[in-house]
Amino acid sequence: MEAAAIRLRDVTKAFGRFTAVAGIDLEMSDGEFFSMLGPSGSGKTTVLRLIAGFETPTAGAVELAGRDVTRLAPFERDVHTVFQDYALFPHMTVEQNIAYSLKIRRVPRPERLRRAGEALEQVRLTGYGKRRPAQLSGGQRQRVALARALVGRPKVLLLDEPLGALDLKLREQMQTELKQIQRDVGITFVFVTHDQEEALTLSDRIAVFHRGRVEQVGTPAQIYERPANTFVAGFVGTSNLLTGEAAERVVGASGTYSIRPEKIRVLDGAAAGDDPEHTTAAGTVADVLYLGDVTRFVVDLDAGGRLTALQQNLETSSEDVAAYRGARVGLRWRRRHTVRIPDPG
Ligand code: ATP
Repeated sequence: MEAAAIRLRDVTKAFGRFTAVAGIDLEMSDGEFFSMLGPSGSGKTTVLRLIAGFETPTAGAVELAGRDVTRLAPFERDVHTVFQDYALFPHMTVEQNIAYSLKIRRVPRPERLRRAGEALEQVRLTGYGKRRPAQLSGGQRQRVALARALVGRPKVLLLDEPLGALDLKLREQMQTELKQIQRDVGITFVFVTHDQEEALTLSDRIAVFHRGRVEQVGTPAQIYERPANTFVAGFVGTSNLLTGEAAERVVGASGTYSIRPEKIRVLDGAAAGDDPEHTTAAGTVADVLYLGDVTRFVVDLDAGGRLTALQQNLETSSEDVAAYRGARVGLRWRRRHTVRIPDPG
């Protein structure tokens, strides 16, 4: 069996008395787009820095392609980090910025230029080589930073919130491009983000971080549809939980359950009863918000508990929405969309 591109074995990192990373095991495969997702301070950047070699673990080991690199310096590891602030040299042209690491390694000039040209092509910036960073847009600068990383042909690229500085539109556009570039070059990307949508869009697999631990590792679909605990259910998407007596009455069993808002239909008046495929619950609309493409209903259930439902505005317009406040409605969803949270935490 081929060794994992990256493997963390029971890695802990403490800063003084504070434990930033608490005994993490992770494996990332060759060519995988792997995201580390979590709130601020959950330890994801520290894990990235441990992989890069900017930090040394307090305990545990880091392996790259089967080799223990725990004690190796950053330059001795076959990885490259792209930072959010790009760190481009302002006085150099784009081409010089990209070729700089090759120059340091005494790669001859014709080869440097050829490889810089190749890297520019990979990030779709052919023709921009003679410009200076100040003459580029934020998205273009981001792509130069990426080209500079790719030119050294690392096995692994580490990206720390690389799209964090971009405005929303550009960010969405760069997400698509980043994914495309990763597919084209076929190397392992390890991507740090606190943005769940970004992680769901880009990743082959996601590790969800919380307080220095990994709460769940899985594909976007597994993380979204089968959250392992209430933290993951709440951090990725809207948690929408039924617990306690409400769960007993509505679902028919005790435990903690998650139903994603977009899976729930809102019906005028009382809902028809349960059937083998569907669960229904009656309630009163506590809040309703028109969001353009969808309307968000917050419904207090007669059975106790509160659920949020998102409805596509196929026939509803903004004027219809206000009338729903305080109205009696029925909620209805497919039984298979009731997901039991195995470990409520
Ligand atoms: P963010 O999204 O805000 O970057 P993060 O999940 O990447 O958050 P880390 O940067 O890994 O979080 O930090 C985890 C915790 O470790 C934080 O509480 C942080 O304050 C602490 N920490 C990180 N580096 C150091 C350091 N050099 N010295 C002391 N504490 C540190």
